[in-house]
Amino acid sequence: MSQPAWNHLRGLEPLSLCDWPGRPCCVVFLGGCNLRCPTCHNAELAWNMEGLPLLTPAGLRAFLTKRSRWLSGVTVTGGEPTFVPGVGAILHEIAQSGLPIKLDTNGMLPEMVELMLAEGLVTQFFVDVKGPFGKYPALTGGAVSEQDARRRLSRIFALAEARPEAFHFRTTLVPLLTETDVKTVRGLLPAGFTLTTQAYKPPRRSHALADSEARRTAGNLVD
Ligand code: SF4
Repeated sequence: MSQPAWNHLRGLEPLSLCDWPGRPCCVVFLGGCNLRCPTCHNAELAWNMEGLPLLTPAGLRAFLTKRSRWLSGVTVTGGEPTFVPGVGAILHEIAQSGLPIKLDTNGMLPEMVELMLAEGLVTQFFVDVKGPFGKYPALTGGAVSEQDARRRLSRIFALAEARPEAFHFRTTLVPLLTETDVKTVRGLLPAGFTLTTQAYKPPRRSHALADSEARRTAGNLVD
């Protein structure tokens, strides 16, 4: 396993009917994340992937060879897939199956999104907009400043304007968000896009503190 990206391959769900609406897909989980959201549902995968079993490239290849004809796509999620060094190697491997790829991202590494788009590696990006720019420090465990959120998501929105078919935006209704916040997020999206909201289910873990004062801070992890 020469490429570092493969060390992040930490899970595979053989079939999901809800991750990519309209497409029965498998879900590939990549460990590691550049944010520290206090409400994270995949904390172990995001911050402690070494504790999860590793899936080998051969294992992924064998699965896709056997099952691709029953699937309409592959969802790549995390953690944060764009934060995985050399993630293109995994995306290229998946692409060999002939299945289109949908990638979940927090949008904080727009240059990676742009690259994947330019290389035709990803068919659709589902971008998680955490909330209004001003709430990013609290929503991301101090990992992203308001200015950074504005700058990075503005680049994502510009990409979406140029390639509207390749983007979908959603927000999880964590306790810190108000109805006004959700309205603000809707107003941020480029014309023609709608925002999908999803209910927040509190994780049963001690780290998961919706109270921004109790969250652990981690500095700016994006740069
Ligand atoms: S972006 Fe936030 S919620 Fe998503 S995996 Fe990273 S820390 Fe968890």
